[in-house]
Parts: sequence; C-alpha cells; structure tokens
Amino acid sequence: MCLFRKQLITGKFDYDLVVIGGGSGGLACSKEAAQLGQRVAVLDYVEPSLKGTKWGLGGTCVNVGCIPKKLMHQAALLGTAVKDARKYGWQIPESLSHDWSTMAEAVQNHVKSLNWGHRVQLQDKKVKYLNMKGNLVDKHTIRAVNAKGKEMTVTAKNIVLATGGRPKYPTHVPGAMEFGITSDDLVNHYCFPSLCVCVCKDVALECAGFLTGIGLDTTVMVRSIALRGFDQQMSGLVTDYMEAYGTKFSWKCTPKSIEKLPSGILRVTWMNLNTKEEHQDTFNSVLWAVGRASETKTLNLDKVGVEINIETGKIIVAADEATSVPNIFAIGDIAEGRPELTPTAIKAGKLLARRLVGHSTELMNYDNVATTVFTPLEYGCVGLSEEEAERRHGKDQIEVKYSIFAMGVVRHNIKFSYKMVVCLREGDQRVLGMHFTGPSAGEVTQGFSLGFQCGLTYEHLRNTVGIHPTCAEELIKLNITKRSGLDATVTGC
Ligand code: FAD
Repeated sequence: MCLFRKQLITGKFDYDLVVIGGGSGGLACSKEAAQLGQRVAVLDYVEPSLKGTKWGLGGTCVNVGCIPKKLMHQAALLGTAVKDARKYGWQIPESLSHDWSTMAEAVQNHVKSLNWGHRVQLQDKKVKYLNMKGNLVDKHTIRAVNAKGKEMTVTAKNIVLATGGRPKYPTHVPGAMEFGITSDDLVNHYCFPSLCVCVCKDVALECAGFLTGIGLDTTVMVRSIALRGFDQQMSGLVTDYMEAYGTKFSWKCTPKSIEKLPSGILRVTWMNLNTKEEHQDTFNSVLWAVGRASETKTLNLDKVGVEINIETGKIIVAADEATSVPNIFAIGDIAEGRPELTPTAIKAGKLLARRLVGHSTELMNYDNVATTVFTPLEYGCVGLSEEEAERRHGKDQIEVKYSIFAMGVVRHNIKFSYKMVVCLREGDQRVLGMHFTGPSAGEVTQGFSLGFQCGLTYEHLRNTVGIHPTCAEELIKLNITKRSGLDATVTGC
C-alpha cells in the first residue's frame, strides 16, 4: 500500500494503535509502536479485588505477581540463610522473628517506584496513558470509562487486547469468596496472620514457600498433583523439600466450606478424595490459588466478533497474534495457548508492534521458553518434561541423565539438588529438556536456555568446561543414565 493511502486510512482514527491493558504485554507493545512513530494510547484500569485491593500501572507482574512474590521469596531465603549462618560460626540469637508489615512496606515502596517508572516511560515515549476501563464498541472504536464513571470513546486503526487475568475463586465452595483471599490481596496485606492454608496451583506453592520461610504455619491443600505440566519427578523434589522445610501438605484433598467463627478464625472443612472422609481445622487465613480467569468478559468481544475458547475464556489467536477480527490482536495471558509468563507477553508485544508498523515480519517463537518456580528449593526448566518427552518420542528413544548432590556446610540441600537432561538416544543426542533444582535456579536456567535455543546436544554439554565449585557445573557433568539404575549421588568434587 502506498504511503499516502496508508496515511489517509490512519488519519480517520484518533490513534494508529490503542492497547487495552497496561501490563507486561500491553506496555511493551505500546512503547515499541510509539518508538516506531505510531500514535498510541494505552488504557489501564484495575478493578479492585473482592477484598478491595487495587494497584497502579504495570499489570500483574509488577504489582501482584512476579516482582512482589520474588521479593517475598528473597525475604524467606534471607531468613533461612541467617539460620544457616550459625553453622558457619555466626552468633545468632536462638529466636528469630519476622515482621510482616516491614517487609510488605518495603515491597510496596519498590512496586510504587516501578508504577512511577512506567508512567514516566509512557510519557517519554509519547504514549497517551488513560487510566480507564475499555471495551469494544466496534472493530475500530473503544469506549473508555474512568473510576468516576466519566466516559469517552477513542478510535484506532489497530487494537491490541492485553487485559491479562485475575485469580479465580472456587465459587462452589461456600464461604470461599467471603472469607478467602487471593494472591492479589496477599502482597498488600500489611498484617498477615500466622496460620494459613493455600489451595494449590504453582502460585500456591510459591506463596506457601515464602510464608513458611518467614515463620508462618502454612498448609497446602492439593487436589491431584503439584506443578501440573512440569516434570513430575522434579515436582516431587520441590514438594519433598518444602515438607522438610516445614510446609504441611494435605494431599488428595479438596475444600468443602469455610465458615468464620465468632473469634474471627476460619473453620475449613475439606474432603480427602481417597478415603472420602471429611476433616475440619481452623486457620487464620485461606489463600485461593486455583488458577486464573482471563479478563475477557467485559470487553464486548462477541459484539465485535472476536472469538474466544468458551472453556478457557481465552481469545483465539493466530501465530501473528491476530484474532478473528483482522485489525484486533491479543497478547499475553488472555491469548489462548500462550504461556502465562511476563517475558513472553513482553516479547510478543514488541514483535507485534514491529509487524504492525511494517518494520519486521518476525513472529514470536513460543517454543522452549525457560521458566523457574520460586519455591524454597527453586526449580528451573526449559523444554520437555520426562513425561512429555516419553509421550512424544517413546520411552526407548529418550535418555535421562541425572545426578543428586549435596551442597554447603549445612547440607540442608542433601538429596534435593537434582538435574536431568532428557535427550534423544540416537544421533547427536539432542537435548529435549533440562531441569535443575537448586539455588539460583532462574539464573542457571537462563544461561542454559540460550544453548537450548541454539540446538544443544549432550555432546555440547560434555565438551563444556565447568565453573568450579558451582551447582550449575553439575549439569555439564551428567553421565549416569536413569535407565542404568546406578546411584547418581555426587560424592566428590
Ligand atoms: P497483566 O500483566 O495481567 O496486565 C493486564 C492489565 O490490564 C492489568 O493492569 C489489568 O488491570 C488491565 N485491564 C484488565 N481489563 C482491562 C480493561 N477492560 N481496560 C483497561 N485495563 C484493563 N510470570 C513470570 O514470568 N515469572 C514469575 O515469576 C511470575 N510470577 C507470578 C506470580 C503471581 C502471584 C502471578 C499472579 C503471576 C505471575 N507471573 C509470573 C505471571 C505474569 O505476571 C503474567 O503472565 C503477566 O503479567 C501477563 O501479562 P499481560 O500483559 O498478559 O497481563
């Protein structure tokens, strides 16, 4: 299309691009497009949680996700390190205590600085920020409403939907919505009570890990398996470690009801799915981490013809993030089949902006995205789990190499630091998946994921010289196969 005609079309609209949702994906997309010369507006609006929690610009990651969670994880690790320091000769008083409100305030101050940073960046890049809730009127028009109910409409040549998700409540459990909280509220709680039950998803394990680590009595209720979708052997190491660390687990259990007693304590009734027996106990707090619901309900998608998957509520997208309406795109957690991770939302947003401007044709590669679960024993991985590798290639076609090692004077990691590489047995033994549990798993996995993207083989690993003494070097020294049945415990340097 000639430039003149392109300008004519664009000129009909208030903006070249309007993004609904100022989280990881939406901010990245809007800033990139503006940098490439587009006229861009981004709408971001936070609907308060049932407990009234709300926050500033930046979406889930910054306000109620990755960042506050990682800081609280760090707070817990520090507590463990202080206790371990005794074994290294530090004279530490026997009773250590943690002050929740000091931590929460420090976390909130950091989050607020990030909120401010995002506003400044939008201003610098000339992206119009509207603190308004948006929905679609037609395929080029958005209705925006602010907290006071003031309305306006904006038009755009292209629209990107990046409204993310919010924690789900198990609405079938009486008392769940009234008395339970979610991860959205957890990080804002200035005074967290001392007894807690988390009902399980990955986020539950992470929250339970740091709650235990800062000294709170914490129980995780798991209906079926922990860390679904992850390698189940590694998942077992993570939860075994957590149990040794002090987190209680109620396996194969499901909550039936929550009542508030006159004392303010919550009485939880649950059922053991194996024995069908009902149990009761009291807790100060119940945290639901049972999954997230996409923020698609209020966008008026059906009116405009944007198709969603009825079961997941997510928007159906093509490889170029296009929805069923050609000028409307969806990125991040609301898009069907995309990993619910910040870096993928950011990268997808930037690449989409470049394609919309005609600057590039590069598509987002969603394969082999590395990730880490920030539990007390951190677990980082990239590629296939052993189960998935077996399913795709057959048990006989894959080789699993592993080691178990203990680290440090305290040896609290004994039996728990374990790695395996799932690789094809034939040819150059291409690595299909790498899994690492141990300190700084995110840092270790990030490095190896680069090799993974470049077509890592077992031979590459064998030819790499390690950095000693580190935990990461164990990954390149793996030589015992699971199939051999030999003891894989590392006993020397
Ligand atoms: P969001 O970041 O959720 O942004 C969507 C924004 O749109 C929000 O601000 C929302 O309020 C706004 N919005 C919604 N509807 C409208 C509307 N109609 N109009 C205007 N604005 C609207 N990922 C990682 O990679 N690593 C981690 O360690 C990690 N930890 C996590 C821990 C927790 C507790 C949680 C909950 C998530 C975690 N995630 C992590 C996931 C990560 O936060 C998300 O994948 C990421 O934020 C998704 O980005 P997004 O742009 O799709 O949406």
